[in-house]
Amino acid sequence: MCRHLAWLGRPRTLAELVLEPPSSLLVQSWAPRRQRYGTLNADGWGVGFYTPGRAQPARWRSAKPLWGDPSFASVALVISSGCVVAAVRSATVGMPLEESAAAPFTDGRWLLSHNGRVDRAVLPPARDAESTVDSALLAALVFDRGMDALGATVREVAAADPTARLNLLAADGTRLLATTWGDTLSALTTSDGTALASEPWDDDPAWTDVPDRSLVEVTPDGLTLTPLS
Ligand code: GLN
Repeated sequence: MCRHLAWLGRPRTLAELVLEPPSSLLVQSWAPRRQRYGTLNADGWGVGFYTPGRAQPARWRSAKPLWGDPSFASVALVISSGCVVAAVRSATVGMPLEESAAAPFTDGRWLLSHNGRVDRAVLPPARDAESTVDSALLAALVFDRGMDALGATVREVAAADPTARLNLLAADGTRLLATTWGDTLSALTTSDGTALASEPWDDDPAWTDVPDRSLVEVTPDGLTLTPLS
């Protein structure tokens, strides 16, 4: 399944966050180290980021593999942000292959990425979904319920589809929210800020694994973990 990451802290270039680490999201698109489902994340990618003076994020997405986008590699060197959500996609069988199916999805101030799968039949029809991919329908439901209800929404969807995997990662420019439900997530806090990622992007021993079925909140004051079940 997909791999995703988020950063909240000192502004860093998109290249520093997504392309340059030894096990960056770019490398994870062909050689993920901890991925439980699928081995290649070549069905698209997306990066959403916040810039000073604008509440809404900017987004750059594609249906191509991240390694096949030299324009992004060039521009990523000069775009900096203190709040970023990025993802590489391995499409679930039967899901559409299109740019609009790549995370992060957005709704006003929020960005949201989904690593996992869910039976679309258990999700209510969503008027505002960006795509018919399960992740976009789930994102529309989460946005509709409100981000303060993220944990409750994940529990509700998991009850309706006990086989669902629901690792979500969201940001609004000032904080990060994440859930673990069926897949991996790691966290790294340094003096510069906090990263959340499906798997560590380097071998820094300060990375910690987030337990499954957790709700994570990251603010400039630090990281809070709450069990979801
Ligand atoms: N189900 C989503 C999709 O098809 C996410 C897949 C994933 O996590 N790999 O895009």
